[in-house]
Amino acid sequence: MTVASNPQGAWRGQTLQAVIGLALLVVTGIGLAHPVALRRGWLRVTDYRAVAPDVVVPRDLSSSAAVHLQGLLDAARQRAEAWWGRLEARPTVWYADTTERKRALGFPNPYVSVPPEDRGGVLFVGPKGGEVDLLAHGLGHAEMLARFGALWRRLPAWFDEGVAAQVDHRPFLVAAPPPSRPPRVEDLRALATRAAFRGPEGEAALTEARAAVSAWLAAAGGPAAVERLRRAMEDGASFEAAWNGLASAADARR
Ligand SMILES: [Zn+2]
Repeated sequence: MTVASNPQGAWRGQTLQAVIGLALLVVTGIGLAHPVALRRGWLRVTDYRAVAPDVVVPRDLSSSAAVHLQGLLDAARQRAEAWWGRLEARPTVWYADTTERKRALGFPNPYVSVPPEDRGGVLFVGPKGGEVDLLAHGLGHAEMLARFGALWRRLPAWFDEGVAAQVDHRPFLVAAPPPSRPPRVEDLRALATRAAFRGPEGEAALTEARAAVSAWLAAAGGPAAVERLRRAMEDGASFEAAWNGLASAADARR
């Protein structure tokens, strides 16, 4: 006589195995499709806590450090709003107080990262990102992603950077005077991809991009021109045609 010969028990065991197997398959499937989202979800439970509906900090961060961060964020939002008008992006801000923690979120740099796949819904702030200039700049990227949606991928990197940096007042950026006329798109070809904004040449690239966009905004009627450019692209214009058209339409009005 053996206990294993109980048919009902064996059936239950098989069902349980099937259920566990299926659950593992589903979790693995989600993990393969959205590995970053899954990792973040896990970190949010284990290592982070929310100090506001849209601000997440490491569990062991002091409350004074969390309050300081929230003050910087408020100032950055006010500055971004003054330029953009009502902000469409309301990103959840994750603050990683060490480079290791920022890397665990998927980004090894210690500054501010705005993942395009989140469409402006997330801002990762590293240990060197807690400055109003960098936070406002990051909010500008989130805003570009939220407003342009699928069209964002058709923008040259220099335009995205140049617009986002309008609210970044770091001295090296503010010191550069914009050219008297907006440059032509072909003149900025070297800054068309993200690679130009990384590494030792990154600051010079950002300075040039910001100055170029400042000159265009001056010709095209200020911050509202960004929205007009988006609408022109939505109606089928290429970026280049929209950039040229808005600058020269304003010229003609003068
Ligand atoms: Zn940027």
